[in-house]
Amino acid sequence: MTKFHRQSLVAYGQPLCETIADCPTPRGSEVLVRVECCGVCHSDLHIQDGYFDLGGGKQLDITKDRPLPFTLGHEIAGVIEAVGEAADGAVIGHRIAVYPWIGCGACAACRASNENLCSDHRHLGIAVDGGYATHVLVPHPRYLLDYAPLSPFFAGPLMCSGLTAYGALKRLVHHSDHTPVLLVGLGGVGMMGLAIARVLFRQAPIVADIDPEKRAAALAAGAAQAFDPSDPQARRAVLAATRGVLAVCDFVGSDESLQFSTGVLARGGKVVVTGLLGGTFSIAAAMIAIKAMTIEGSLTGTLAQARELIDLARTGKLTTIPTHDRPLVEAQAALEALRAGRVVGRTVLAC
Ligand SMILES: [Zn+2]
Ligand SMILES: [Zn+2]
Repeated sequence: MTKFHRQSLVAYGQPLCETIADCPTPRGSEVLVRVECCGVCHSDLHIQDGYFDLGGGKQLDITKDRPLPFTLGHEIAGVIEAVGEAADGAVIGHRIAVYPWIGCGACAACRASNENLCSDHRHLGIAVDGGYATHVLVPHPRYLLDYAPLSPFFAGPLMCSGLTAYGALKRLVHHSDHTPVLLVGLGGVGMMGLAIARVLFRQAPIVADIDPEKRAAALAAGAAQAFDPSDPQARRAVLAATRGVLAVCDFVGSDESLQFSTGVLARGGKVVVTGLLGGTFSIAAAMIAIKAMTIEGSLTGTLAQARELIDLARTGKLTTIPTHDRPLVEAQAALEALRAGRVVGRTVLAC
């Protein structure tokens, strides 16, 4: 029987280590995918920790209902290796990206095609074993997306960092006709957001990040202007350049980033928050009405949006962001580099 090598979470707060098991045999509609590559995502750090920081010393425990050892990884591209007897349409040898945000299929969110928002989800690499491995089991062929002629190292990360940025930015299309969109935070998702925003919106986006290297990378990738939000004059500078922004995407999700994002809004403006860095955020309540502002959350994206995003990438208009590939055995080192904030662009594990 084929062996299945994984870089597994064996204890929360501890380094990943290799585990080896027998490869599962797909049954029914299941498909066994041999993983070619899997992107490393910031949310993997939270799962490794076992909690989200809610600020004020509070933590959201996320260790429940996840048997250990557990395999992280939800930005998967691979090759169909074996199929169950009812996996109609899945062809052995086909190269596919895996939509990981798989729902229960029965709840209100799933029935509205928002499986990414399912309350009893089976999200790969979050609740069910994911792609830091040689193989991953997918419950149905509908989650397998053909991505030719893109590279698997581009297609895999589209399923989370790309989709998260795309799902969030689509919520800003009606706010972006007259002023440029402001993108706050230029990690992997923010840089993907920049590439997508350049295609979705009429005007080139403006960006903000505290790291000068990331600002330089964003300017090189087509941002119209870059601001340093740690500069006390930054808010004034954005207001001087724009007279207030109507559309902000906050890829950080911290106290500081949300203060900045809401502080530069014009009346009627909207902030979409997709970052999970954590903390608490307070706002003068009257400003919500005085500025007629909207603060809206966004979590990954739907299966339909994943298909749209692959089609958008196929047009060739999305500039690829810097990608570093590392072998699967370096998964822990890749997580540590991400945790230290040392990565410009994306890290993808070659599995
Ligand atoms: Zn992710
Ligand atoms: Zn559901």
